[in-house]
Amino acid sequence: MIPGPGSPKHIGSFIYWLCRELIDLVNGVRTYNCLSQRFFKLHAFLIIIIGDMPAIAHIMDMKGHIGKSPCRACYVTGKRDRTNDQSTIHYPVHTDSNHRERHKIEELLNNPRTHQSFYNLATKIVESETLAGAEVERTCTGLNLMSVLWGLPGINFEHSFPHDLMHLIFLNACPNLVAWWTGTFKNIDTTRDQFRISTDNWKQIGQRIVKSMELIPASFIRQLPDISMLAHTYLAEGWSFWLLHIAPYALDGILPAVYYEHLMDLVSITQRAISYNLTEQEVLTVFQDKCTKWVMDYKWYVTLLSLPNSERHICSIILFSHQDYTINTKRNEHRHVQQ
Ligand SMILES: [Zn+2]
Repeated sequence: MIPGPGSPKHIGSFIYWLCRELIDLVNGVRTYNCLSQRFFKLHAFLIIIIGDMPAIAHIMDMKGHIGKSPCRACYVTGKRDRTNDQSTIHYPVHTDSNHRERHKIEELLNNPRTHQSFYNLATKIVESETLAGAEVERTCTGLNLMSVLWGLPGINFEHSFPHDLMHLIFLNACPNLVAWWTGTFKNIDTTRDQFRISTDNWKQIGQRIVKSMELIPASFIRQLPDISMLAHTYLAEGWSFWLLHIAPYALDGILPAVYYEHLMDLVSITQRAISYNLTEQEVLTVFQDKCTKWVMDYKWYVTLLSLPNSERHICSIILFSHQDYTINTKRNEHRHVQQ
């Protein structure tokens, strides 16, 4: 619908006609049933939209991951590294080297954005008396204005834009973990980290993946290239197969036990998340607790255990949206938190 290469400046005008068609579908369109050989009114509702964070922010008319209040699910706020003009905004859990918490995970989870809160915050922007005032409200709320999808029957701003498993785990957590293990995470030196996998071991794993492809039926997965050289070519499908079917065997005995167990927790969470018998009750209790624990362990294992004397700092947020969660992590220089 929008060919690019850039994204539209005013998304509302692009999807206006789509909205009109969606409203027609809600009201019902005359459709022929070839079995009963009769016409009937077909009603259809758009209830869920998925995409990566920039795309969803765009369609929700939010500032997104570059904003001070970036999350569509909660009110976590970011902090800009003023010492670096090129820097993006980070979301530190701690404000300083004393590890004083600036965000309590439980508080974020217990105070989610709601459908009504989107409307209330957009109203504050509209009612600002000056343009400068409106811009301040935009920064604080993370909204540009109200999306044209607001009010469309079926769309609920709290529930219709979930953080999906593909982006969270296969395209985010998996490549991030590999980047940590191989020392390619955002140019951060992990040479001395306990979880660092040696170049030789990683090459061997890559070669074994290529060899194993000869024995794996194509119905399971297309040809996966050598992960030690071509990890950047892996798509979600490849990362999914890597996580669920390769990593548990390839990294057994390679990663120190504590990190291997943490990886296996992610495997178990993913397996449960894609199972068809996951109940809402389980999601809201055991499953959510497991996800929270995994993210907290991630923060702990990646930073504190491996870098007891480090001046580096982790910034992490959890974005919970019912069954889904996401992680944004970033270790940064100490100067970043000294401001
Ligand atoms: Zn959030």
